[in-house]
Amino acid sequence: MKSPEKDPSGDLAAQADALCRKIHGSKVHVRGLVEITNYCTRNCLYCGLRRGNTGVRRYRMDEDTVLGVIVRGYERGLRSFVLQGGEDPEYPADRLARLASRIRERLGDAIALAFSFGTFRRDEYALLSRAGVDRYLLRFETSDETLHRRLRGTELAERLNALEALRALDFEVGSGFMTGLPGHDMQRLEQDVALAKSLQLDMVGVGPFIPHPGTPLGKEPCFGLEPALQATAMLRLALPYANMPATTAAGSIAPDGRERMLAAGANVLMPNIGPVDFKKDYEMYPGKICLDEDGLRCIGCLAVRVASIGKELSFGRGDAPSHHLRGRKVDKAARAAAPAAEGVCRA
Ligand code: SAH
Ligand code: SF4
Repeated sequence: MKSPEKDPSGDLAAQADALCRKIHGSKVHVRGLVEITNYCTRNCLYCGLRRGNTGVRRYRMDEDTVLGVIVRGYERGLRSFVLQGGEDPEYPADRLARLASRIRERLGDAIALAFSFGTFRRDEYALLSRAGVDRYLLRFETSDETLHRRLRGTELAERLNALEALRALDFEVGSGFMTGLPGHDMQRLEQDVALAKSLQLDMVGVGPFIPHPGTPLGKEPCFGLEPALQATAMLRLALPYANMPATTAAGSIAPDGRERMLAAGANVLMPNIGPVDFKKDYEMYPGKICLDEDGLRCIGCLAVRVASIGKELSFGRGDAPSHHLRGRKVDKAARAAAPAAEGVCRA
């Protein structure tokens, strides 16, 4: 076992792991990830998909392709899917909503459907909700307002308002941040975790920032996996009932990065099940893992990896306990606030 001096986050990770196992058991929920478009109108300084990066071969899957990928995943036993992409004007909210409706018509309510396509207006999120999207992932990236403005060219408040709208629409709400962004220090990490806690997230994702040579941050230092592991443990302790992925970025920066996140409080894996032809072009950061493999085949490898830390894969919807608990509280509050029904009970 590593000494606390050498591994300052070791004790924290052990505490977070124990809490995670107490609440979520040894299950690791598997979500099939499909990256449907790498076009993006935004210009985030950290991201390889930014519009200013002309070195990217852009692609956009059509709806039939996406539906085909999801149905294939369903047939192989997956019941939870995440669709992600850049902010692509060819995939506005109404087209995404049509796509969601088609998936729901085909597969019904047995599946969970999470979308992650950046910022929309509240009425657009409402459209997605009505079409059957039940979860939405939107990281706040950093809680430092000045840094956020510099990196994304917009206010932190834009993403926080969007998260508030998603919450009001009763989505399972996911957010999170990157560790190791320029100027990284412990105080910022604590502030990021505090913001995630205050948002009472149902899903919280954290990954190490990995500099991409085709971006303005390409020459920034990389702080490695350790801050992301520390963040994972802190987030688990702050949000015991949330679902938390062991992220691809962690697995890309260290061969055992995802296992170590799963041993520090994470309980979700998101293999990319999209067509191999497109995978390598969805390069937010360099060195992404599993680019040449069919994601459904990767599941065998993931099963072995999670077994190495005494966990097992789970293929259900994997709803966040936090969302159920909040629902229960809301129901109770609503019942308490509702006027007594008149003329119903004639006992
Ligand atoms: N366009 C959507 C979803 C795609 S980006 C959005 O921005 O929300 C998904 C996530 O990739 C981002 O939230 C960011 O945290 C992460 N990411 C982008 N560039 C990265 C980099 N260079 N290193 C690590 N993670 C990165
Ligand atoms: Fe676009 Fe998302 Fe990348 Fe920003 S992080 S450039 S919004 S894909």
